[in-house]
Amino acid sequence: QSTRRVHLPDEAATERFGAALANAVQPGLVIWLEGDLGAGKTTLARAMLRALGHTGPVKSPTYALVELYKVSSLYLYHFDFYRLNHPEEFVDAGLDEYFTETAVCLIEWPDKAAGFLPPADLVVRLRNEGAGRALELEAASVAGLQCLNTVSA
Ligand code: ADP
Ligand code: MG
Repeated sequence: QSTRRVHLPDEAATERFGAALANAVQPGLVIWLEGDLGAGKTTLARAMLRALGHTGPVKSPTYALVELYKVSSLYLYHFDFYRLNHPEEFVDAGLDEYFTETAVCLIEWPDKAAGFLPPADLVVRLRNEGAGRALELEAASVAGLQCLNTVSA
């Protein structure tokens, strides 16, 4: 099974799922976070960082395009391309350099860098469902499938 769906009734549920996902990631994994404004992409990224042991603030990287974190031995790069006007700005800004075997990359608004962004191993789709959110996890590579099968939430 390469797709999983869960209902997240409240923000705490999103945080729990983020923690479970964080425990399943491996270096090199590229995770696209899809969904409208307010869907919970940043909430999920923040929960992953917290679960990995990051204690400082997790700001939305909207203006900087990327925030870099190192938690314990893991490099985690959090991108947000909402402000990208043209997909080629991804390469012009040198952001392709961050995609390495050693880092986990989380990307909000991946479609804004379409054609330049490396492919996803895992795609997370969030949307409103009642008062909560529906989350869909789709594996797009062997590494993504291994992660998906390891998520214990
Ligand atoms: P995005 O990064 O997708 O624009 P944010 O994470 O910044 O979204 O904001 C999501 C908002 O939705 C926050 O106000 C958060 O409290 C709320 N939220 C997150 N997860 C849930 C959930 N499962 N149910 C209800 N509200 C949620
Ligand atoms: Mg966001």
